[in-house]
Amino acid sequence: MTRKFDIIIVGAGFAGMYMLYKARELGLSALVLETAGGVGGTWFWNRYPGARCDVESMQYSYSFCEELQQEWQWSERYASQPEILKYANHVADKFYLRRDIRFNSRASSAIFHDGERVWQLSTDDGEHYYAKWCVMATGCLSAAQRPNIPGLGTFKGEIYHTGNWPQQPVDLSGRKIGVIGTGSSGIQVVPELAKLAKHLYVFQRTPNFSIPARNQPIDSAYEAEWKQSYAERRTAARNMPAGILSDIGTNSALAVSPEDRLAEYERRWAAGGTGFTAAYSDLLKNEDANGTAAEFVRKKIREVVTDPAVANLLAPVDHPIGSKRICADTDYFATFNRQNVTLVDLRANPLQEVSEHGLTAGSQFYELDIFVLATGFDAITGALSKIDIVGRQALTLKEKWQDGPNTYLGLMTSGFPNLFIVTGPGSPSVLTNVIVAIEDNVNWIAGCLAYLMTRDAQTIEAMASAEQGWIEHVGQAAEGTLYTKAKSWYLGVNVLGKPAVFMPYVGGVPAYQKICEEVEADSYRGFDIHANRDSVHSLQVVA
Ligand code: NAP
Repeated sequence: MTRKFDIIIVGAGFAGMYMLYKARELGLSALVLETAGGVGGTWFWNRYPGARCDVESMQYSYSFCEELQQEWQWSERYASQPEILKYANHVADKFYLRRDIRFNSRASSAIFHDGERVWQLSTDDGEHYYAKWCVMATGCLSAAQRPNIPGLGTFKGEIYHTGNWPQQPVDLSGRKIGVIGTGSSGIQVVPELAKLAKHLYVFQRTPNFSIPARNQPIDSAYEAEWKQSYAERRTAARNMPAGILSDIGTNSALAVSPEDRLAEYERRWAAGGTGFTAAYSDLLKNEDANGTAAEFVRKKIREVVTDPAVANLLAPVDHPIGSKRICADTDYFATFNRQNVTLVDLRANPLQEVSEHGLTAGSQFYELDIFVLATGFDAITGALSKIDIVGRQALTLKEKWQDGPNTYLGLMTSGFPNLFIVTGPGSPSVLTNVIVAIEDNVNWIAGCLAYLMTRDAQTIEAMASAEQGWIEHVGQAAEGTLYTKAKSWYLGVNVLGKPAVFMPYVGGVPAYQKICEEVEADSYRGFDIHANRDSVHSLQVVA
């Protein structure tokens, strides 16, 4: 079995698959290590009922191949998890990706050998692989976060995490089900579980803002419209902050009359989807402006939910709308009008413990057959921290990032030569259509590898000074927004002991991409490039 490669990629989700495609284009020998038994990354694992994307399917797909984007047909405005997984498999088949992917192989460590300038990747089953370059394509929302609830291990029923749902069908009908978590996953799974359960208890700690998705079948005229000008539309999308072609308001919410504002919110509510918060330019910057949108959504919740006490509990008041990832739902709030659904407010009735047959919250015991944990992810850095990554002079990534993740452009971190990260902390990643972010990062990495190869360079590494400058820029960009006003996974505060640092770059896709392109054009400014033992920024004259 071959164990030496030019490049090893960790993860066969959308990032890893495209990185493999680009590595082959460069003529590199490549290996992808993947924990799962198939491609798709987060879409392989998140198989819970109701799982679907909140970016429109005509946009949530690769743009790198015209033939691929023309031939693939999406059936719904927002694709369901099975359809996205089918698409990922189609891509893997079309480009014969599987032959370089080792499935059921979890990378447990990645160690850089200083002398040989080689990365050694080891897997759980004791295999070792070696490569000059290593790319972490491990995803931002791939490390499911199980809550630390006393007694959870004693529960005699079934426990499922939305982010790690079984591949076999789960029998949910006629069961007493408890859901913990009311983020995007909880909001999607709750209406589906309610249709099947004998009784559904939704244990809510914090309510979230959600906008109706208004999902519907894609009609052929809409599809044709997109496909006639796909390339132009993709370019236009890349010029938008979230990398999504959308209708972005340019006015302040406070500069228009209350009547006009209401009409605009009504229009967006009727259209559906997360574009709601793009109605005005200052909704994520100014608390008063934000308050107008938040109050509109709270009013809608009160209109839908018939029991005023339940409606009150479901109406978020503790964070600005959009400061946590906004959700898109199908009948979430209306689900609480069903007789077989009970909302349990964990703020008033704190979760005490789980025992063999259920859960106690406050002084009330709830008998359950099944627990569904919709408790989210150790986001952005979680999948990386599950791998023992060791760089130069035995520096571990965990040590280096103990006070928060430091990267240059989200792409590399000093002390870890030849290690690239796709959609790493400090890049726009989760604030965008992540497939756009993935393609842009992978294209940049591929361009960088080509540059290094033509110069016969041995290593590339982010300079500590460039990294420091970038991290300060990322922090300053976030400070000017309302994102820091919520206790969210963007900040890592959902994970006990994780430093509270705002991780994604809020500057938007065009600004970020411009910086990445300038760095590239400026001979990889801020990166140290070495050939043999010499710095090779001087080698450019030879090339
Ligand atoms: P999440 O947004 O982090 O929500 C986790 C939920 O679990 C929160 O309601 C949280 O309450 C609750 N929770 C966690 N630990 C708890 C505990 N010990 N006791 C009680 N409640 C607890 O996670 P998510 O819903 O999986 O979503 C994560 C992200 O994945 C989304 O923001 C989105 O970016 C992505 N996603 C997207 C889609 C889509 O495309 N439509 C679907 C699913 C997920 P607190 O808020 O009080 O901590």
